[in-house]
Amino acid sequence: MIEAQKKLVEKGIHLSQQRIAIMDYLLKHKTHPTAEDIYRDLSPSMPSLSRTTVYNTLKLFSDHEAVLVLNIDDRNARFDGYTHHHAHFMCSNCEQLYDVPIPDHQVAIARANPGLDGFRVRSVQIDYHGLCPRCCAEEVTLK
Ligand SMILES: [Zn+2]
Ligand SMILES: [Zn+2]
Repeated sequence: MIEAQKKLVEKGIHLSQQRIAIMDYLLKHKTHPTAEDIYRDLSPSMPSLSRTTVYNTLKLFSDHEAVLVLNIDDRNARFDGYTHHHAHFMCSNCEQLYDVPIPDHQVAIARANPGLDGFRVRSVQIDYHGLCPRCCAEEVTLK
């Protein structure tokens, strides 16, 4: 069974050709694509795929915690098939999104924040903004 199928089964999502294709895309493209990116790249080989299906499928994946929905980019929701805890860095210049590891104990600290007494935390997102090493090397000025 390919990785995408395995992940869908694990998360209790019924398999369909389109769901498998979208999950497969997310697992293979670590670029944190938008729904539009996914639609644009998959539709040529899947003429029956509609934009609505892509949006609905991503919503379904997110409801089953099979995908992370990132709000780091204020213009578009970005999707991540890698669902283990990690932080993101968004470059203000080239707009690339990078994965940044966060140690489990750091997640535990964030969850144990005393300001959250009485709250139940479902997820923690840590976002960094700035310039990536490549843009730093090109001496771009930080906006
Ligand atoms: Zn950059
Ligand atoms: Zn990520």
